[in-house]
This record gives sequence, structure tokens and C-alpha cells, in this order.
Amino acid sequence: MKLENKSVLVVGLGRSGVAAAEILRCRKARVTVCDLKSADEIGIDSSILQRAGIEIYIGAYPEVSRENYDLLIASPGIPLNIQPFRQAFDQGIPVIGELELAYRLKKEQTELLAITGTNGKTTTTALLQDIFARAGRNSFSAGNIGIALTTLVDEVESAVIAVEVSSFQLETVVDFKPHICGILNITPDHLDRHQTMQAYIEAKAKVFQQQDSEDYAVFNYEDSNLRELGPSCPARLFYFSADQSLPEGAFVEDNYLVIMVNERQERICSLDSIRLRGKHNQENILCAAMMAYLAGAPAPIIAEALTHFKGVRHRLEEVCCENNILYINDSKATNPESAIKALESFDNPIILIAGGRNKGSSFDQLALLISRKVKELVLLGEAKEQIKQSVMDVNYKNIHEVETFAEAVRTAQKLAEAGDVVLLSPACASWDMFPSYEHRGDLFCQLVQSINKDVR
Ligand code: ADP
Repeated sequence: MKLENKSVLVVGLGRSGVAAAEILRCRKARVTVCDLKSADEIGIDSSILQRAGIEIYIGAYPEVSRENYDLLIASPGIPLNIQPFRQAFDQGIPVIGELELAYRLKKEQTELLAITGTNGKTTTTALLQDIFARAGRNSFSAGNIGIALTTLVDEVESAVIAVEVSSFQLETVVDFKPHICGILNITPDHLDRHQTMQAYIEAKAKVFQQQDSEDYAVFNYEDSNLRELGPSCPARLFYFSADQSLPEGAFVEDNYLVIMVNERQERICSLDSIRLRGKHNQENILCAAMMAYLAGAPAPIIAEALTHFKGVRHRLEEVCCENNILYINDSKATNPESAIKALESFDNPIILIAGGRNKGSSFDQLALLISRKVKELVLLGEAKEQIKQSVMDVNYKNIHEVETFAEAVRTAQKLAEAGDVVLLSPACASWDMFPSYEHRGDLFCQLVQSINKDVR
């Protein structure tokens, strides 16, 4: 891609916007970045960009015309209906995202494996990279999970990269073509941005639109949206299922994870030897195992990874087990669907800590499961009243309302008895009390450790 002396506008100063701007500048493009928020609000040091010769436009968007810009780069967090993009579309100026830019800049020997879906992306991406690392491959993970893909592809010559991609990033791809893609599930989410479920599905489908018969795709057979998309996928398609045996692909049979390709069957490992909990994680594991196998990872190495991988922080993370009470940090469960998955992952009585900022969800489904599986419910945060109402509607009464996060953890610890699970799975965003779900999860881990030290 020729960038020298091209005028490029990067819209959005988030992590991927900054990464794109820096690479473009290295490739001698004339780069302007713009954002409605100030660098301080975003939390970046703009002097580094200025010193690199990047022009910064804050508080308003510049006028876009063919005279001043050759290319626009869209950050994933910014919708495509804002003024600069509309002006670009009207005048035929190309608009691409950071993912597409990375794809155009990557070296030929670098192989991309893309993971998308509504839920489970980070876990699957991390596991996939772990398998490659154990197989001795020069491997990385990138995208939403950590380092921006543009930064990585600029630095590596030849590698296999597991890249986590969101529907927002996929909206702006053109040539992007992963050798293997995996789609975990497509359930209603982000409809504020995509407007309709159809548009959301179409965005996800862009992950395979440039693939051909030399490439592979891996879809969840139990997801009806994905089964419908199957016939339109140009790559060689394999399904996975945690519920039933399939003629080929990855599936669970007699409590064993099995991969079947070209009539060759590989029995990978027993489900009992896998450390990740929950049916949802079985799906993530099946997807990662299938993708890794197609990329040439040997079956014994896949088994070794599956039996050792402990998951990603803040997702059903085991904090400790004290006095036979298991403490679990699931701070990443920022919506009721995720909290439902967490509750379904345990057979023991649960002391659940929930609440925070509601992102517009109903808690009615979650309340039903709470009434069946939760021994005591500790509620806090902005959504406290709303969750309380939903559980009271199903005649659930073991509710403990608290004001602070420390009080929530202390209350849960006092209520718990041997054999119980104390589970932080808030079903809400953290922003009413914390800058991020990671801060909330870190504080939970610290409080659990210190409270248990006090009582020891
Ligand atoms: P993402 O990166 O897509 O947000 P994560 O791996 O970070 O996914 O998991 C986030 C939450 O989503 C988890 O805490 C869990 O509750 C839920 N989750 C994970 N995997 C799945 C899955 N395969 N299906 C449904 N929900 C899942």
C-alpha cells in the first residue's frame, strides 16, 4: 500500500487510532488525527504524536474533501454516520479501519487467524495463541485482546497471529482475508450501533467475505444465525458443537473432545481434564482447537494446552479457595447473559454479588436463574433497585443490599458456608463505581485475599 505523501485523517484517538497514526507517519504519510474528546480525557500523551509530526485536531471534526484528504481511517468505537465519514463517502474518498490497514501492511509470510462472535472472543483468542506457543510457533495475539494489529504486523516478519475482531472493526474491512476465521456465536448486541440484527450479522459475515477455497472457516453449529450463514461462506467450512456429534468438525462425544477432518478422527482429551468451566467455554475450546488443528497444530499439543489453560483474567477467574469456599472473579460479566453463563457453570450453592450500571438490559431471565441457583444475593450499585425488583417478581427473598464494594465482599464472605461459591458476576458495567471492569475485578481479588487473611 503506497502511503508516502498521502494525506490521511485518522478519526478517533483510541488505542487503535493512535497505533494507525504512528504507522502511517512511519510510512511517510501526512497524518492528522481528530477526536471530540481532549487527549487528557482519552488518557493519552499527545506530545508524542506531535513530536512525530502528526497534526492533532481536538474538539471538532475537520471538513473532509478531496483537496485535503486521500484516505480516512475509522476507529472501531466511532460510528460511520458522523460528518467526516459522510463527507468522505459522498466524495468517494476511501474509508477503512485499523484492521484493514493492518491487513494491507502485513508481510506475506504472516498468517492471520481471526476470531469473532458476540461472546467468547478474548478467551478463544488467548487459548489459540497458547496452543501455537506450545507448538513452538512464532505466535502472537492482537486486536481487541491487547496490542493493535497494525503495531504488530509492522514489527513481525513471519508469524501466526490470532486476532480478536469485533463487528465494529469488520464494518470497515475491504480486502481483509484471514486464512482461518472462527465465529463463536451471533446474538443480539450492539444494536444501538448496527440498528438491525441483519446489519449486525452482515458485519460479522465480512470476516469471511474475501476468503476462498484455500481458506478455512469454523462456525458454531448450535447457532442458527451461523448455520444460515454457512452456505454463503466461500472458505472450506467446518462446524463445531458442544451438544452433538457431527460428520466432520469438532464436537463432544462420550465426554471427549473429538476432531474429525477428511475422515481422520483425533480424540483430543476428556472434558474432565479441561480447566475452563461452563458449557460456553466448551464452545470456545472447540472453536480454538479446530482452528489450531486446521493451522497444523498437532493433536497432543492441543490437548496439552486445553488441559493447562486457566482462562483469561476477570472471566470466571478462580481467586482462592478458603475454608472450602471458592471465590470467583467474573467482573467481565457486564450484562445479564454473561452472568447467566456464570451461574450455569456451578453446581454448588452460590453467593452472588451483582449490580453496577445497567447498559439497557432486562434482568428478568437472570432473576429466574437466581431464584433457582443463588443462595444469597448481594446487591450494589446503580442497578440495585432494578435487579431487586426482578428477583422479587419471582418471589426471591434472600436479598442483601449494600452501599460499597468492600461491604459487598464482606457480606458475601460472612454469608458463605463450606461448599459454597462466592461469585462476583455483576451483570452490569462497572462505570458507576470504577473506571473499568478490570479495576472492579482487581479490587475484588484484593478484598477477598485481605478479608480471608483477617479471619485466618
Ligand atoms: P468477548 O471478548 O467476546 O467479550 P470473553 O472471552 O471476554 O468474550 O468473555 C466475556 C464473557 O462472555 C464471559 O465472562 C462469559 O460470561 C461470556 N462468554 C464467554 N464465552 C462465551 C460463549 N462462547 N458463549 C456465550 N457467552 C460466553
